[in-house]
Amino acid sequence: MAVNPYAWIEPSLDAIHRANWRRSVQEIQGMAGATVSLEGRTVINFASNDYLGLAGDRRLIEAAITAIQTYGVGSTGSRLLSGHRPLHRQLERAIADLKQTEDGIVFSSGYLANLGAVSALTGRRDLILADQYNHSSLKHGAILSGATVIDYAHCDPGDLQQRLEQHRDCYRRGLILTDSVFSMDGDLCPLVDILDLADQFECMVLVDEAHGSGVLGATGAGCVEHLGCTGRPVIQMGTLSKAFGSLGGYVAGSAKLIDFLRNRAATWIYTTGLSPADTAAALAAIAIVRHEPERRARLHQQVAYLKHRLAAHFPKSASEASGFTQLPSESPIVCLQVKDAATVMAVGKHLKDAGIFAAAIRPPTTPTSRLRMSVMATHTEAQIDQLIGALRQYVAR
Ligand SMILES: *Cc1c(COP(=O)(O)O)cnc(C)c1O
Repeated sequence: MAVNPYAWIEPSLDAIHRANWRRSVQEIQGMAGATVSLEGRTVINFASNDYLGLAGDRRLIEAAITAIQTYGVGSTGSRLLSGHRPLHRQLERAIADLKQTEDGIVFSSGYLANLGAVSALTGRRDLILADQYNHSSLKHGAILSGATVIDYAHCDPGDLQQRLEQHRDCYRRGLILTDSVFSMDGDLCPLVDILDLADQFECMVLVDEAHGSGVLGATGAGCVEHLGCTGRPVIQMGTLSKAFGSLGGYVAGSAKLIDFLRNRAATWIYTTGLSPADTAAALAAIAIVRHEPERRARLHQQVAYLKHRLAAHFPKSASEASGFTQLPSESPIVCLQVKDAATVMAVGKHLKDAGIFAAAIRPPTTPTSRLRMSVMATHTEAQIDQLIGALRQYVAR
């Protein structure tokens, strides 16, 4: 009898299960927003990347519907063959204007933008220096490129410099990769130091603004703007699926860089163009980000309110007693570190029972277990108070 070549899957799944690492989906019903329906119950949503509350915005919905009525549902081909629409170019121009770069290129997701850009910019003779906490898409882009990849300690320019001194000379091109806002911690990369080191050691820099775009900077251009680095030679990538409420990814930079990516980024060349609906919704979102800075101001007010309330009720000095340690964050991603995986799962379950949806994150996703809360511009103080109340109840129980 023939051996079943798929037989290995079941024991592998069992091993994942035994390690408490098995993941499954949770069903959200109804419209995206600050409250959602989770498994049939209305909960306050602190687990969304929709920072500005745009995913359910009327104007994005109408733009998407109009685009479908005008162009149909699919874009029917790759951008270089038959999949290019005027909307794509408008979106790329809007991204370049927001980022104050010469040009931009839109991919079907942020993940694909990173895979395509990193693997196009570097090859076997090159060196990639990467923050150890970078997003999976940067890590896999680096692997795909075939370059030598060396991780440096998280947000540590001293360690980066040491590794550049030790290794840079042995390679052709150098590329430094970093998230701007780290997605599981909410802290910011030391971009000024990184760009200075890049100048000194002749390296390119690609910064992943997935959680920075639309959120940070006076005009919402991202962490690059927030840290005063606009106009410096840095490749900015990001996603259209977080603050911009839609789907898709992009790279913004010099006209030559973008032209090169159109010719060399396999994840752009050999895939179908972004759908008309997603493209139009992202375009509407960028217009809102530009013309309604009050949404961003409101987001930062709510972030400050949450951090203030957390610091008041779970002060650092009493972290032993509460079991919660607030991690440093300069973004709408706010984390409470807890002792272990079992504790974070218990906190997550307690919150869910209290009508609050926040992410319980445990190893191997992050080195330590933490409750991750992401704030939206459309959260009310009362909703944040409910979150605090539920956390206090957990500590007191
Ligand atoms: C979400 C995310 C991505 C991927 O973006 P998608 O558009 O969702 O594929 C890339 N980098 C970081 C840091 C992210 O958080």
